[in-house]
Parts: sequence; C-alpha cells; structure tokens
Amino acid sequence: MNLELSPADLAFQAEVRAFLAMHLTDALREGQRGTTSMYPEPEVSGPWQRVLQVQGWLVPLWPEEWGGTGWTALQRFIFETECALAGAPLVHPMGVRLVGPVILRFGTQAQKSLYLPRILSGEDYWCQGFSEPGAGSDLASLSLRARPDGDDYVLDGTKIWTTQAHHANRMFALVRTSTEGKRQQGISFLLIDMASPGITVRPIATIGGDHDVNEVHFDGVRVPQADRIGEENAGWECAKYLLEFERGAGIFSPRLRSQLKRVAEAMASSADQVLSEGMQRRFGEVVSDLDTFEWLEMRTMAALPPGDNPGPVSSILKLRASRLKQEIGELGVDALGAAGLRWRSAPPDGPGLAATLVPEYCNSRAFTIFGGAAEIQLGLIGKTVLGL
Ligand SMILES: Cc1cc2nc3c(=O)[nH]c(=O)nc-3n(C[C@H](O)[C@H](O)[C@H](O)COP(=O)(O)OP(=O)(O)OC[C@H]3O[C@@H](n4cnc5c(N)ncnc54)[C@H](O)[C@@H]3O)c2cc1C
Repeated sequence: MNLELSPADLAFQAEVRAFLAMHLTDALREGQRGTTSMYPEPEVSGPWQRVLQVQGWLVPLWPEEWGGTGWTALQRFIFETECALAGAPLVHPMGVRLVGPVILRFGTQAQKSLYLPRILSGEDYWCQGFSEPGAGSDLASLSLRARPDGDDYVLDGTKIWTTQAHHANRMFALVRTSTEGKRQQGISFLLIDMASPGITVRPIATIGGDHDVNEVHFDGVRVPQADRIGEENAGWECAKYLLEFERGAGIFSPRLRSQLKRVAEAMASSADQVLSEGMQRRFGEVVSDLDTFEWLEMRTMAALPPGDNPGPVSSILKLRASRLKQEIGELGVDALGAAGLRWRSAPPDGPGLAATLVPEYCNSRAFTIFGGAAEIQLGLIGKTVLGL
C-alpha cells in the first residue's frame, strides 16, 4: 500500500493547517496542554467544539444531512493528526462519537430532531452509564432496574466509573427491563436527564489527583419511556454498536505522538545530562512501535468507507494504543527521575514537565481497563479476528 498522501490529501492537509493557524488560540492550547486525565474540562473542550461546529467540522462520522463532513477516513486521520500536532483540545466524545451514532442508527425521527442538534450545539453534555459495581467486563450482568409505570420507567440502582457525570446534563444508560430469558435480552437503552429528582452523583478520587469519574445513584428516578432508544429489551444491540465506535472510531496515534514529544522534552532537560543506554534504547523502541502503530491505523482508516468504523479490528487498535500510552507514560516518569516526586507542587511548564507527565502516567494505567479491558480485547481478537 502507498502511504504517501495524494495531491488532494495534501491540499486538504494545507486547508486544515490554515484553519488551525487562524482559530486555535493560545488559551485553548494551554487548556489541552494542562489536561492530564482522559478528556479536557468542558470550559476547554466547549469553546473548541463551537469553533468546529461553525466550520462544519465537528462530526465527520455523521451523515452529511445531519452535519457530517463526508470526509474519507484518511482525511479524518489527517485532520486528527494536524489537531494533535497543533495542540488543539480533544472534543468531548460522549455526544458526538458515542450516543450520536446510536441515535442516528436506532432513534426515531422525533429523537433525532430533538437530540442531534443539541449535541452539535453543545447544549447537551453527555455521560455514559454502562458499568455498575457488579458489571464491568461482564456488562450483561447489569442490574440497575427500570420498572414501567404509566408513561415512565422508574429507575433504582447504581452506575459507577461514570466519566464527567458531574458535568453532564444527560446520560445514556443501559438498564434492566426484564429478568426473563438470556441476560442480554432484558436490557434497554435510555436517555436520562441528569437533573431528574433521585439522581445523586458522588466523586471517585483517582491516583492522578483528578476528579474525572463518579458513582451515580438512582433512587426512584422517573424517565419517560419516550426517551428509550429502540425497542424495550433490545438495548444490547445499541450497546454493541456504540462500543464499536468507542473502541474504534477514535484515532489514537497523533495524540500519542504529541505525548511522546513532551517526554522527549523531559528527557532533553533531564538532570542526568547523559541518558543511560537503557533509556535511549527504550525511547528508540517506543518511537519505532509508534511508527508501526501509526501505519496500521492509517492503513485501517484508508480502507474504510466514509462514516464507518473499523469493526472487530478496533480491538487490535485499542489494545495496541493502550499499551503504547502506558509505555510512553513510563518513559516520561523514568526520564523525570526523582524530580517527578514533587509533581503536585510543580508549575505546569516547570522543569521536566512533572506536573503533567506524572498524572498522565498515573491515569494511563486506566487505558487497559476502560472501553473494554485488555484481556477482553484479547478474547475478542481471538474470536472475531483470528476465528479461534
Ligand atoms: C478511568 C475510567 C473511566 C471509565 N469511564 C466509564 C464511563 O464513562 N462509563 C462507564 O460505563 N464505564 C466507565 N468505566 C468502567 C470500565 O468500562 C470498566 O472498569 C471496565 O469495563 C472493567 O470492568 P471492572 O472495573 O468491573 O473490572 P472487571 O470486569 O471486574 O475486571 C477485572 C479484571 O479481570 C479481568 N477479566 C474480567 N473478565 C475477564 C474474562 N472474561 N477473561 C479474562 N479476563 C477477565 C479484566 O480484564 C480485569 O483485568 C471507566 C473505567 C475507568 C478506569
């Protein structure tokens, strides 16, 4: 396969660069640079989302009639690469990349007309209510009960690890509407107003010191049945579709490369002016692993029709990206050495970048857990890619 960009792709790249030079402010860049957890805070991602929305570049994966760009997957890759290299904020993915495609595929016309414009405008900020204290990898064992009552469901139970639930005004959730038959057949997919009486959000502190994840408790919460996506008890189909986007529609290598660039800066300013041979070798290995991963990602993207996601190959990309994220994080803290121990009091741009590299390292441990743990991805690769 030819990995050289065509003249049309090079022209597109130049257009993206010109757009970024015009619209990406220093404040937005600073906001992303200071982000050490998974996603930026809404005051960083929100303004950038509005810029992209005005430009018509917010939802490349959506059909053009709903605001999609009609880009090829390779153009999407070019766009993500240029954004990462320029230091643009990540867009909060829960609306545009996760629930948006589900509403487009399974929602009624009324649900599309109500929710899709609010995702685009940023009026709705979504969180994902899938995991529960007793249901993570084995998601089908979820037990948050939704009991029909008139035109509503009444919800009782708990969701956990809910990223940015403390910022969200909407949650998409899997709930149990039946205990008959196979576990997967008793699950429904609901859209929930986070301001509903009976919802309590409690923070979970993580080792990186960020407030990113939460417990969300439901105590007699009423949700209109009109806010169910698809048929009752058919939510598992929506969940499987959504997970393909969660694992596969992200483009990982550009952000990994920009993190590696910061690690290289830390290594260059390391107190040990001469880096050990071991560190140099590890750096070289990570660079070559990242190059290989980038080619794999680009090749996968180049073969995809517009708006599609890679399907089962997502598991390979997600697994490889998670491990690279962790290797780069480890290299970063090793480069800092003892200076890394004072990361909590270090200034953001201080020597060695300890204030960002250390929490990034801590948070990277979660990359082989969320969106399907590494062992689960290995199982999926065995089953769906290798046919074992
Ligand atoms: C930072 C972070 C953010 C998250 N954000 C969200 C969110 O926004 N919304 C949401 O719904 N969830 C979220 N999650 C939850 C995440 O999806 C779950 O943590 C994940 O699915 C694993 O579930 P668990 O924690 O219950 O671990 P378990 O499922 O109990 O797994 C524990 C260990 O056992 C292994 N294991 C389990 N089953 C198997 C098996 N069959 N074969 C081999 N090994 C197995 C796992 O790989 C893992 O190593 C988040 C998690 C983290 C850490």
